[in-house]
Amino acid sequence: MDRKQFLKERLTGLGGSDIHHLFNEEPYGCSRKLWYDKTSQEPDYPVIASNIMTRGNKLEQLIREEYVLHTDRKIRRVNRMITSKQHPWAMCHLDAEIVAFDDRKTGILECKSVGRPMYYKIRDEGIPTSWIWQMQHYLLTTNRQWGSYAVLWADNWEFIHFDVEVDAELQESIISAGTGFWRMVENGPAPVQLDAKDKRCSNCEYRHTCQGEKLMVLAQGNSDEVPFDNSLDTLMNEYATVKVLQEETAALVESKKQDIKEALGDRVLVDCTGFRLYYKPVESTRFKSSALKKENPDLYEKYAYKSVSRPFRIRSI
Ligand code: SF4
Repeated sequence: MDRKQFLKERLTGLGGSDIHHLFNEEPYGCSRKLWYDKTSQEPDYPVIASNIMTRGNKLEQLIREEYVLHTDRKIRRVNRMITSKQHPWAMCHLDAEIVAFDDRKTGILECKSVGRPMYYKIRDEGIPTSWIWQMQHYLLTTNRQWGSYAVLWADNWEFIHFDVEVDAELQESIISAGTGFWRMVENGPAPVQLDAKDKRCSNCEYRHTCQGEKLMVLAQGNSDEVPFDNSLDTLMNEYATVKVLQEETAALVESKKQDIKEALGDRVLVDCTGFRLYYKPVESTRFKSSALKKENPDLYEKYAYKSVSRPFRIRSI
């Protein structure tokens, strides 16, 4: 299917990657944003094209091949959009079907290409909730009973795969939320906004339309005071992509540190192969400069001095 046709068809219903939005699932889901998208509203800001999606598309065929190699199962491509007979808003575009074998009927294959942090996160903690919704939506739409995830970390060529079964309870939630949402797409109103301070809103492409003046907006040409320079756009897009990676890695590092602290318990100093671990209580003396300024301003003035720095900050506008 060509890209143009795919983009046109995706406006006619809900696909697997839309489902986490129905439930405002963190960290990226927002039902109102999905509503703007499905009602073809023009975004206030260009959608930042992610290289991660390109990576996924380009590696899809290799992941299919890897799945066949590891499982010895047969798969077949499905090159068309599938729509549910019972729920006309439910549709999907599958990476592949797994051909029936032994006592297993036909299943669904979902291919995922991930970076290192996500690979370890999945291996240690399980798959993201948005993927669970996605697979249950595929099973609902196609009326199949089971599916399989194929996950590749291409840099290190590490691969994992695992099967999942249909979950009637999750599918009931999808039917209820999807039916209600599609009614809103056809007749309005828009779903309720998230709090404007929510992280998801700060870089949302609909933030002006959605939150109005709660989020500061400076479109090109409407500020006399601040110069506009769109030659910075490419750098800023690259910055936004690596920032997402940084946040994923930071969360992973933090969770590993927490595991190590729990494993240490009350011990304050331990060696293991190649590492020495310190986990001692540390006492430090802090200085309340604002209290000193208030209670003894002369003394404060005597020792306070000015320094010049050039803080670099980025905020969404
Ligand atoms: S601004 Fe926030 S609430 Fe509005 S659509 Fe975007 S993410 Fe959703």
